[in-house]
Amino acid sequence: MPTASQRIPAVVRPLVSERAAKTLDIVEKFVNEDCLPADPVYHAQLGQGAGRWSYPPIMDDLKKKARELGLWNMFLAKGHYKEGAGFTNLEYGLMCEQFGRSRVASEATNNSAPDTGNMEVLAKYGTEEQKRKWLQPLLNGEIRSCYVMTEPQVASSDATNVELRIKRDGDSYVLNGQKWWISGAGDPRCKVYIILGKTDPNHPDKYKQQSIIIVPTDAQGITVKRMLSVYGYDDAPHGHAHLIFKDVRVPAENIVLGESRGFEVMQGRMGPGRIHHAMRSIGAAEEALRWLLTRANAEHKKPFGKLLSQQGVILQWIAKSRIEIDAARLIVLNAAAAIDTGDAKSALVEIAQAKILVPNMALDVIDRAVQTYGAQGVCQDTPLAYMWAQVRTVRIADGPDEAHLEQLGRRENKRAAEARDLIQKQMDITDALFKEYGTKEAGPCARL
Ligand SMILES: Cc1cc2nc3c(=O)[nH]c(=O)nc-3n(C[C@H](O)[C@H](O)[C@H](O)COP(=O)(O)OP(=O)(O)OC[C@H]3O[C@@H](n4cnc5c(N)ncnc54)[C@H](O)[C@@H]3O)c2cc1C
Repeated sequence: MPTASQRIPAVVRPLVSERAAKTLDIVEKFVNEDCLPADPVYHAQLGQGAGRWSYPPIMDDLKKKARELGLWNMFLAKGHYKEGAGFTNLEYGLMCEQFGRSRVASEATNNSAPDTGNMEVLAKYGTEEQKRKWLQPLLNGEIRSCYVMTEPQVASSDATNVELRIKRDGDSYVLNGQKWWISGAGDPRCKVYIILGKTDPNHPDKYKQQSIIIVPTDAQGITVKRMLSVYGYDDAPHGHAHLIFKDVRVPAENIVLGESRGFEVMQGRMGPGRIHHAMRSIGAAEEALRWLLTRANAEHKKPFGKLLSQQGVILQWIAKSRIEIDAARLIVLNAAAAIDTGDAKSALVEIAQAKILVPNMALDVIDRAVQTYGAQGVCQDTPLAYMWAQVRTVRIADGPDEAHLEQLGRRENKRAAEARDLIQKQMDITDALFKEYGTKEAGPCARL
């Protein structure tokens, strides 16, 4: 079996350094030999009831091993951050694919969301004091964090709608409001919230009403109303919380970058994160295909006397899955390369393409794998059911498909005049050619 570095698509191979290729193989080995076997142990250590919101001890051993292997904080891209491991987005994207195959791999290497995006915010926009207090322990993997934007009472896919109030009061800001779907809030190590709210709700520019502020999780006035489930899974110990903020007071220096700069900070955070999520979903799809191949060739389970792989339809599923994963991977790597050569803003279109395409593709592949297992595919005996629930949320989290499609559609639609002009110009040339050759239209001939 070729290693991960030997499987890098030919078209991007020249963009991957030897160091990154070597690290990619170490990542693959770590995921195969340490993380995937540890997944069920991690779940078992969580236990039942209140014990689920605890910290499974196996994670510390995995982190220790990852650090010994030099696998730590690979997400902070070369050329953009000095704190990272020096890989490009494309190189890290290839590693993310491996992480996406396992429940524990991203956290074990300190590359898990939402900490990665929050660390990017602090590294890019934080003051020296904010970095000392919050970025350093996050980079060390000592604490965890949440990104706090979505609210239950408004359509939060349009972030200009958020209402949580951040009001200046002397040397402090006071927060009032509610947030939900706050991932990571269940983890006892979660010590800091990065919150988007409104400092200036009446600002005439609706993109200048918001600010981002750092709030310690133990600040007075924060309560967890309830934890939310994802298709019945609690996602412990990470979890997704509904939080209430009542007169929560933090020092004024906790604002990030300055008042009214919330959108600017938020947009800086989002681009690379979407690529990382997309590559993890590619990894999930690859893992699902591995499970599909295993069941399709299981000698002990032959419906109607034949292996599933001897049934034409299943072979077609295998072939389609291979094509779709490989095509989607190229879309994501292209977006990563576009960020590397420009930045997240110049790569908006490529990032949106990857964000939309990949989870839909991965869900199709996972669903085929589920189907090959019959009833076993929907229960806890394979990772497929949980994997499906996880990937399904990617179509909503970080902006739903429809919002991204709308944006992409509008952008593409701007080419309408250019498309029409080109067709018109070609028709004019055709007419001139008819004239020159003394012929008349007969047969296919474009007309607007
Ligand atoms: C598992 C999970 C984890 C999450 N983690 C976090 C987190 O850590 N922090 C956080 O702040 N949030 C988090 N979220 C919330 C997530 O970011 C929001 O759910 C998402 O932005 C959509 O907002 P909404 O739920 O308010 O949906 P709404 O804005 O109410 O949208 C509802 C639906 O409207 C449709 N729609 C929206 N825009 C358009 C459009 N332009 N055209 C056509 N249709 C449209 C879409 O179908 C969309 O699904 C998480 C969500 C999930 C499921």
